[in-house]
Amino acid sequence: MLGQMMTQPLLISSLITHAERYHKGGKIVSTNTSGGVENTTWGQVGHNARRLASALTGLGLPPQTRCATIAWNNRRHLEIYFGASGGGFVCHTINPRLFPEQLVYILNHAEDKVLFIDKTFVPLVAAIRDKLEHLVHIILMEPDVGDAADSLPGIIAYDDLLATGQADYEWPHLDENCASSLCYTSGTTGNPKGVLFSHRSTVLHSFGSNLADSIGFSAMDVVLMVVPMFHVNAWGSPYACAMVGARLVLPGPGLDGQSLVGLIDDHKVTVALGVPTIWLGLLGAAKAANSTLTSLNRTVVGGSACPPSMIATFRDTYDVELIHAWGMTEMSPLGTVNQPLAKHRDLPIEDMHKLRENQGRAVFGVELEIWDQNGKPLPHDGKAQGDLVTRGHWILDAYFRSTPEETLTNGWFDTGDVATMDADGYVTIKDRSKDIIKSGGEWISSVELENIAIAHPQLTDAAVIGAKHVKWAERPVLVAVKIDGADPSEAEVLEIFDGKIAKWQTPDKVVFIDALPRNATGKVLKRTLREQFGDVLL
Ligand code: ADP
Repeated sequence: MLGQMMTQPLLISSLITHAERYHKGGKIVSTNTSGGVENTTWGQVGHNARRLASALTGLGLPPQTRCATIAWNNRRHLEIYFGASGGGFVCHTINPRLFPEQLVYILNHAEDKVLFIDKTFVPLVAAIRDKLEHLVHIILMEPDVGDAADSLPGIIAYDDLLATGQADYEWPHLDENCASSLCYTSGTTGNPKGVLFSHRSTVLHSFGSNLADSIGFSAMDVVLMVVPMFHVNAWGSPYACAMVGARLVLPGPGLDGQSLVGLIDDHKVTVALGVPTIWLGLLGAAKAANSTLTSLNRTVVGGSACPPSMIATFRDTYDVELIHAWGMTEMSPLGTVNQPLAKHRDLPIEDMHKLRENQGRAVFGVELEIWDQNGKPLPHDGKAQGDLVTRGHWILDAYFRSTPEETLTNGWFDTGDVATMDADGYVTIKDRSKDIIKSGGEWISSVELENIAIAHPQLTDAAVIGAKHVKWAERPVLVAVKIDGADPSEAEVLEIFDGKIAKWQTPDKVVFIDALPRNATGKVLKRTLREQFGDVLL
């Protein structure tokens, strides 16, 4: 072999080592579960992460032991992210809003031996403790256990565990391909599936996030991490922010609009990440509080389609650039980010606004294709729509306890989304393939109809489902939530579609309800809506 570059493993510990060394004083603000705000730094988080890794090693856990968390976004959770993974264990973040049976399934399937919990979740865990077959240690993420020991005997306080760790602990030299973290998909059909991320995929994903035309965190940023740390590793932002030393604001359990506006204004947040429903609450609260969100430059929105009206409000009322991104658990999650190209520089302003509405183009590290039902590639003409498939540096190869043969098709992962792609690679997500409305021989995108409906001044929320129809098999039905005090008629609501879509795509009916059912990551539960309203046209 000819002389070449050093080979160093791409390890999560290298991210925190960098932050600890070069951004020692970089501020991290963390909201405590019991209220109040705590200040820490990347230096302190790095120090604690090493002590935690040392303490976990001291418990005699074998390499790759799964260490679960059921916790809010706070600094102890951040230390666990780096301490557990960096120490050679697997940080397994769990969504607290799952049903107890799903929690039991996931903790047993993952064979979690350690479970870190926030105080909020003591009753939740006490109720299922007896069913957790592999669990040995429960750690309360507090300075002391307080009365938690009454319902969870043997529980240890995080700070006591940390005190058993060595401050001069050195990160182990792991294989970069070993597992670093684990997330289960929400499993809307069947059991949740585990997605294991590796050190290598996580570090590469951080580079991908930090490209200028991607999310591009910077040491100059103050990042409000609204996306939960149990939702695909907070979209990888803890790692990407450590890589550049961005300052962080961690909101703890307070995800209501008012709390978020307070955090943005108090800590001069420049970037915030979250799902569209959270921003609906935030925009309402900002208006009520007369806040102009002065410090905020950009918000990164994904997880569900972002309605164009929300992009416009952020832009026109608050001078905030909304960056629309798409991805999924199986993709770590970053797939596409909407950023313009040089040739768009002189576009008329309306065209530029239009361009920013779709889900964007692939980030380096991700390849995308659209296929027809037979797996044949479709043209990238912005019109042909098909199954969106992907492969790349941080894309799933096989689900936990499964094989690539069972997970992939000819080396590609089928995202389950239906999309179009234009000649520049800009992707528009039309629907989840199971939600798209098949009316006669034609397909209707529920997302497109929702984007229009949500802009109705008398509606606060809207979803469109395919309802059974005798003649057309399925027809769109709009399920709408009125704003407080408004009482629009069905006809008044449907007027909003006039001239925006073909007449035959307009929903056949509007059903009004008080609130849309959503899962823990903000996605509307369309299956529940179909169960409730799927027969209204029969
Ligand atoms: P789950 O565990 O529910 O799969 P994910 O967060 O991984 O949770 O969900 C991924 C799915 O969310 C994608 O396949 C897509 O359907 C949807 N999604 C994510 N971002 C967007 C977006 N910007 N626009 C439309 N749909 C999106």
